[in-house]
Amino acid sequence: MKAIILLGAPGAGKGTIAVSLAGKGRYEHLSTGDILRAAVAENTSVGRKAKPFMDAGDLVPDDLVVELVAETVRQEDEVCWYVFDGFPRTLEQARRLDEQLELNDGSLERVFQVDVPVEVLVRRLAGRRVCSACSAVYHVDNRPPADEGVCDRCGGELVQREDDNEETVRNRLEQYKIQSEPLTGYYRQRGLLEVLDGQKDPESIADDIASCLSAGVVDR
Ligand code: AMP
Repeated sequence: MKAIILLGAPGAGKGTIAVSLAGKGRYEHLSTGDILRAAVAENTSVGRKAKPFMDAGDLVPDDLVVELVAETVRQEDEVCWYVFDGFPRTLEQARRLDEQLELNDGSLERVFQVDVPVEVLVRRLAGRRVCSACSAVYHVDNRPPADEGVCDRCGGELVQREDDNEETVRNRLEQYKIQSEPLTGYYRQRGLLEVLDGQKDPESIADDIASCLSAGVVDR
């Protein structure tokens, strides 16, 4: 299996970009946030452990997240390219992902850092709405659905995520700064990092990523 990672603060648009990439065929979107929210909604034992951290805007413990990723990857091992969205978020998770890839004869192809200024992130998160059925992402101003409150893709109900309230948003951004920013150095050192302007349209960012990857494949 091959993997790419989307790095970026909450609200940078990683999820929207990953969905757009997944529409191009060979990519499989893997969002640890979506997996964890599904576990909470289903009230599984993982969900019950993760919920208090998520409600506070804190990171869920590494062991729990790494195990979830390992299970998901194992279940879908025929898929060729994983797009990791929201994982890894700590250096420990990054190291353990390296181990898992090695174990599965996989390779990390490239890491894309989606860059967006903090004021823009706060505005984006406050206006964000997600589909309660398929997790598609909308924004009340920038990306409204055709019918208010209804998902264009599947007709599901659009809701505001519980952790998109202002206080929790500030904590999530703080956690990102402390725990996740060091990851850029980790991947830059290995020559894997590409920095992208996250204020561009998500579709065109996804196109840029796809062309960058095909260029890389031809080079090898
Ligand atoms: P996201 O949808 O990626 O913003 O994730 C929502 C929440 O899920 C985060 O604020 C964390 O509480 C938790 N979470 C998602 N991915 C991870 C991860 N890789 N490590 C730790 N916690 C995570």
